[in-house]
Amino acid sequence: MGASAVYPGSFDPPTLGHVSLVERGLAIFDKLIVAVATNPEKGCLFTADERVELLSESLLDRFPRSRIEIDRFEGLTIDYARRKGAAAVLRGLRATSDFEFEFRLAMMNRHLDKGIHSVFLMADSQWFFISSSTVKEAASLGADISDLVPGPVAARLKAKYPAIGRGAPGPR
Ligand code: ADP
Repeated sequence: MGASAVYPGSFDPPTLGHVSLVERGLAIFDKLIVAVATNPEKGCLFTADERVELLSESLLDRFPRSRIEIDRFEGLTIDYARRKGAAAVLRGLRATSDFEFEFRLAMMNRHLDKGIHSVFLMADSQWFFISSSTVKEAASLGADISDLVPGPVAARLKAKYPAIGRGAPGPR
């Protein structure tokens, strides 16, 4: 059996930046377990079930199914990674602003389990500026975000924000 990595996140919602990271993660690992962290449920636009569904719809047709698992977990990522027998936890780095937070997280994870490694991939330059929160904010203001997220996510955002694609709402 080859090495697998857990790719954890909120994925609220999944973006093409996430998809790009999965594609590149699969160039390194034999299998990726893309796992929705369900702890910080409050404040999320989509429920954990919806996020799992959106990930499945966004990833399972693009990549070999034998190499991708979509799951959800509660509690510590490192405990989950151990349960799954993963060799690594995969995370993406965009701006330097991600670094400080990710560095502390990686140090804590190493403290908790020295056998599971944190692996970081730099965001693709095309998706460097994409985050779930900027996509949500732009969508809520009516921006067309269809080239930033997988098709199923664009459809779901459009259902939540019918003004999408019509530009910012004018003065009331
Ligand atoms: P979290 O709330 O755990 O940060 P996110 O869903 O925002 O979860 O992101 C999950 C992981 O994907 C994080 O490691 C994040 O840095 C990475 N990521 C998010 N957007 C991008 C992107 N555009 N390019 C590369 N990696 C990204």
